[in-house]
This record gives sequence, C-alpha cells and structure tokens, in this order.
Amino acid sequence: MKIRSRKFEGRCARHKRYNPPVDGQGAIKGGCKRCDLLFEIWEASLKLNQLIRKFDPAHDDLERPPAPKPPAHDPRQLSLIGE
Ligand SMILES: [Zn+2]
Repeated sequence: MKIRSRKFEGRCARHKRYNPPVDGQGAIKGGCKRCDLLFEIWEASLKLNQLIRKFDPAHDDLERPPAPKPPAHDPRQLSLIGE
C-alpha cells in the first residue's frame, strides 16, 4: 500500500498563515473549523508515522533522525599530543 510520500497542501482560506506544526492548536482563531481540521490532519499524520515506525522501524524513511554529530575531540588525546 502507498500511504506516505505525500505532501498535503491544505490550508485555511481565512487563516492562510496557520501552520499546525509551528503554531499548534492554541493558535486556532475563533474555533475555526478548517484550522481545527488542519491540526487534526497533522496530528493524524504524526500518529501514522508512529504506527508505521512501531510496525517496522526499517520503513521509516521520512522521519529519520539527523545523523549524530561526530564526537568532539577527546581532551585527553589533545593533552597527549601536547606532551
Ligand atoms: Zn481558519
């Protein structure tokens, strides 16, 4: 089944700048139903990602965490070089 690799372009006509991941549910003005729905869609997509990850972590291709940074220089090594 094909359910991911999909970009959702929906936005509220009255509140074009409303962006659920950034603004959160608290930024919905006047209990706007469209904004509320956008928030629900975003929440559902998070839930979907969680479920897919739970089912098989190897299928997690969109929300891969950033690669860990290389470890900083070990101060003990530096002191060895200095001696
Ligand atoms: Zn709205």
